[in-house]
Amino acid sequence: MSTLDTSMDTLLGSARGKPKLLVVDDQPINIQVMHQIFGGDYQVFMATSGAQALSICQTNPPDLVLLDIVMPNMDGFEVCTQLKANDATCNIPVIFVTAHTDAAQETHGLSLGAVDFIAKPVNPAVVRARVKTQLTLKFQSDLLRKLVFLDGLSGVFNRRYFDQQLGVEWARSSRSHAPLSIIMIDVDHFKLFNDRYGHQAGDDCLRQIAAALKACLKRPADLVARYGGEEFACILPDTSFHDAIGLGNDLERKIRALRIPHAVSSVTDVITVSVGVATRTVDSAKDAVALVGLADAQLYDAKQSGRGRVCGSPLGSLG
Ligand code: GH3
Ligand code: MG
Ligand code: MG
Repeated sequence: MSTLDTSMDTLLGSARGKPKLLVVDDQPINIQVMHQIFGGDYQVFMATSGAQALSICQTNPPDLVLLDIVMPNMDGFEVCTQLKANDATCNIPVIFVTAHTDAAQETHGLSLGAVDFIAKPVNPAVVRARVKTQLTLKFQSDLLRKLVFLDGLSGVFNRRYFDQQLGVEWARSSRSHAPLSIIMIDVDHFKLFNDRYGHQAGDDCLRQIAAALKACLKRPADLVARYGGEEFACILPDTSFHDAIGLGNDLERKIRALRIPHAVSSVTDVITVSVGVATRTVDSAKDAVALVGLADAQLYDAKQSGRGRVCGSPLGSLG
């Protein structure tokens, strides 16, 4: 559990410390009122136009938006529509705060994806309670969304997330023509390890390996996932074959340096991994699955040629 908890802490991000509220209103006096109500318990950000609100939501996403409806140029309904249409902002809850409350407006606001509707002038206790309710729900659903993508045993991402991100990164590299590297990692003689030391020790070993692999990745866009039983995989966007091989060697050394005893391994007396590397180069015609297949073929070569080593070849690159 402890590995998972740590990952959750990092993943939750904005739930730690003071939650961030964005107050959007073209009348500064209304923003001031909200600031008085929330300033103590929340980080309050403000926008006096719809365009400014959208820009803040993109660059510094708040945990919740309190949104005025009647504003010049872009009204609150339009802001809400745009927030909900964008993958990066669609999960930010929106509460409309407005002087014009009638059933038709309220229904329209809710149909656009708002979670609540509050009448101006606001009652401080009521608006505080409603915001708290919506934030609790938001943090709970953020947590669930993230748990869906984490491996319960090792605390790193799971196969589902790997597959999803592989698609995202493949598309990105198609647009940018930047290289994309994949590293496959398989624990050597892990069946023998389980037989010798027991399944519990095996689980513990996988946790240590996952943590060590994660610690090796330095760039925010790099990710490691548990690909299957005792197999892990990394996605390295914008990483050349040369750099990926370098990282593969780091990973192999780092796992060896854990010095987890493996008395019955044919490689040495500690746990080792075999590593396969493949890189997509410019103008590749193949797909993401083929790239993983190439890394897997290199991993197979590493196994065949003695384990505890890294294989990869520029000839294995696509393009
Ligand atoms: P190789 O060096 O060729 O990769 O040999 P290997 O024994 O590592 O490979 P094999 O595929 O034969 O066996 C994989 C083993 O990994 C068998 C399986 O019981 C073990 N394993 C897979 N998932 C888990 C897990 O979650 N926990 C534990 N303890 N063992 C696992
Ligand atoms: Mg293995
Ligand atoms: Mg295996």
